[in-house]
Amino acid sequence: MTVKLFNTMSRKIEEFKPLVEGKVGFYGCGPTVYHYAHIGNLRTMTHNDILKRMLLENGYEVTHVMNITDVGHLTSDDADSGEDKMEKGASRDNKSVWDIAKFYTDEFLRDFDDLNLMRPTYMPHATDYIKEQIELVKKLEDLGFTYKIEDDGIYYDTSKFPAYGQLTGGSVSGNRAGARVEFNDKKRNPTDFALWKFSPKDAKRQMEWDSPWGIGFPGWHAECSAMSMKLLGDHFDIHTGGEDLSRIHHTNEIAQSEPITGAPWVSYWVHFSFLVDKSGEKMSKSNGEFLGLDALRKRGYDPMAYRYLISLGHFQTQLAFSWEALDAAAAGYKNIVRRVATLLQEKAPGNVDEKQFKEWHDKILEAVSDNMKTAEALVYVQELLKTSEVNVATKIKLFEFIDRLLGLQFIDRAKKQIETEAETAPAELQALAEARTKAKTEKNWALADEIRAKIESAGWSVVDTKEGAKLVKKA
Ligand code: AMP
Ligand code: ZN
Repeated sequence: MTVKLFNTMSRKIEEFKPLVEGKVGFYGCGPTVYHYAHIGNLRTMTHNDILKRMLLENGYEVTHVMNITDVGHLTSDDADSGEDKMEKGASRDNKSVWDIAKFYTDEFLRDFDDLNLMRPTYMPHATDYIKEQIELVKKLEDLGFTYKIEDDGIYYDTSKFPAYGQLTGGSVSGNRAGARVEFNDKKRNPTDFALWKFSPKDAKRQMEWDSPWGIGFPGWHAECSAMSMKLLGDHFDIHTGGEDLSRIHHTNEIAQSEPITGAPWVSYWVHFSFLVDKSGEKMSKSNGEFLGLDALRKRGYDPMAYRYLISLGHFQTQLAFSWEALDAAAAGYKNIVRRVATLLQEKAPGNVDEKQFKEWHDKILEAVSDNMKTAEALVYVQELLKTSEVNVATKIKLFEFIDRLLGLQFIDRAKKQIETEAETAPAELQALAEARTKAKTEKNWALADEIRAKIESAGWSVVDTKEGAKLVKKA
């Protein structure tokens, strides 16, 4: 099936053609582990997962790399000045930088698994690739792209790279218009960036390494160039990240890499739009107020409801998060799960009709392959549930495929629902349910409601069915 992707570099939807037949090298920028990931970061990770699953379902062998940024990321927009985010996180949590890197990486991976994101083929930590980053800077130095700022670091001279800023269509000077880059007057050009930062003379950093230029640490962008080339080769197919990364981080990655590898370094650049709040404000880790997946779990939401909300939108459109939107998505998700549970309980599902399977499979896969139109695929999912022209066995086989493609775990949740429904309530709750039925026949609504509340607080729900009141364990 033809795969189409919007390529930030060409600003067009392009047909995907891999460098090596049947294989995809895919690098997605990962988290900076100085704090919990927020649901905005996780939206980006979910889009990576949708992209990867779509490629896999199209038969590609995907090598997926996601870095863990545990060093070299300062608080200014271009990450070259200000406080070190890791050191700041460490003093906030009263732990060492190494401890917080481990802690927040583990927390991130818990969220990753709960959202059913497929683990990457490689998850390199920036601190494990210091040697490769130093080698990258040395190569750029040999090619004449670097200069030193005393007591600061080794910088990249962007005026030496004529294609600088091409990714976002900006010129060298115009590229940063509007960016809040703290002006460093020792830089030759405002867009120049640090490749290697020196440790301050008067303070000991927790993370620092020796280098040909003195003790210090790599600039933020170096890790992604060095690690992607090491793990995917000098040229690879897809590089992704949130929309903020195109302007500085990816622009700088290209500037560091193409003098070494030749252009184009990467064939397709894919950027995912932000998760924002109701007022359009970007959710951000650095302002300290954000929602993690845990906040959703604590309010009783299944992480799959959030994944469903993401899938109802498109990656090139910002997603305005609200609890109302999540409620609506959770209700829609549960509705599908309930109907899949009914399919699974069907006594006479029939035999799979391969022709019909292929027809539905192809149109669903085509929607997602066409620049990741997941919302369109979900419309087909609803139609599939409704139609009486497809038998149950075929529908179930299609849902197995839909779960592989969209990662929404419909079948898993449907099975869990069947299990909890099959569980019988303790005798005292059954007695309460009978008392409630009696209260209802006596039109004593207040008492009936009071009893219902007691049952609910014990973790069960009363569902009135044609056969009478049924007790269902809350999922
Ligand atoms: P960070 O952990 O801040 O390095 O970010 C990890 C990934 O999340 C990057 O690809 C960012 O571009 C992306 N990201 C950051 N904020 C948001 C947001 N509000 N919505 C979606 N993606 C985001
Ligand atoms: Zn990166």
